[in-house]
Amino acid sequence: MTTEHHKVIILGSGPAGLTAALYSSRANLVPLVVEGTQPGGQLTITTEVENFPGYPKGVLGPDMMNEFREQAAKFGTLFAVGDITSVDLTRRPFTLRTESTTFTCDALIIATGAKARLLGLESEMRLMGHGVSACATCDGFFFRDKKVLVVGGGDSAMEEANFLTKFASSVTILHRREEFRASKIMLDRARNNQRISFRLNVAVEDILGDAAAGGVKAVRVRDTITGEVSEIECDGIFMAIGHVPNTSIFEGQLELDSKGYIVTRPGSTYTSVEGVFACGDVQDSTYRQAVTAAGSGCMASIDAERWLEGQHAA
Ligand code: NAP
Repeated sequence: MTTEHHKVIILGSGPAGLTAALYSSRANLVPLVVEGTQPGGQLTITTEVENFPGYPKGVLGPDMMNEFREQAAKFGTLFAVGDITSVDLTRRPFTLRTESTTFTCDALIIATGAKARLLGLESEMRLMGHGVSACATCDGFFFRDKKVLVVGGGDSAMEEANFLTKFASSVTILHRREEFRASKIMLDRARNNQRISFRLNVAVEDILGDAAAGGVKAVRVRDTITGEVSEIECDGIFMAIGHVPNTSIFEGQLELDSKGYIVTRPGSTYTSVEGVFACGDVQDSTYRQAVTAAGSGCMASIDAERWLEGQHAA
């Protein structure tokens, strides 16, 4: 086990983490970015990004994240692969451990992002990658001319369903009630797509199929009004029921809200622990955009830099 000390450590390498790294490295703080299990973050599993300013022709998510990384590296950002398995934020310097290394730091910037929420069914895990997916842009291609279901009633579900019509022969959105969380424009787009149909007031109770025998075959649903149980045949099912923040390693050490997001002081990236800052999706359940994540990454770097200066002066 080796031990390394850094002035600033940034956890996560999505738009928030890499923007924090760009600013911190330009401030001569020589930050270390611990990239996590999915370097580049959630944008590496999307395709075209059309709403990041400065790319009028659009850009592929993985390409954009490579450019973010290159720009941060240019000013001296250090990178470490691996995932932090435990942290100690009770004393300074803070301690962070991977399987092989113990890191300590004076200031910590958390940008660990969020991941897709799942239903929590045993069959969902067993059939993950065998017809169950939480990423249409990653797996849609495998469902050419197949019948697929999308679970959810928000913008993600509408977006995933629309995307899947490029491949699938039919797409059915399963939603547990009649009202939608999705914005009108996204809902209208799905409603106007001839290949998309809707089954409302249904909850998925089980996913049927065998990973060794062709994967998903059907799902069992319960009508949330009548209680009636029925089966819907399908080749695949996509979960689009929101996201959960990656905060389990901070539980009990940082203030989290009821959904598990890190609480930051309004208008800043300060967390409940002095010297620990949070930016991007890990502290934002509202906007969740690459550009807002990048903006808050910039804020975290400036907050950390000023806080460190204050420590030095004290
Ligand atoms: P969301 O708005 O929170 O919607 C989640 C949906 O999943 C809801 O309809 C919810 O049902 C359903 N759901 C949650 N848990 C469930 C469960 N256990 N079983 C069945 N259904 C469940 O999440 P989102 O769609 O991922 O969107 C998150 C944010 O990203 C939003 O601000 C959205 O506008 C934004 N976004 C924007 C775009 C875009 O503009 N292109 C695309 C994607 C996402 P209930 O409604 O009954 O709670």
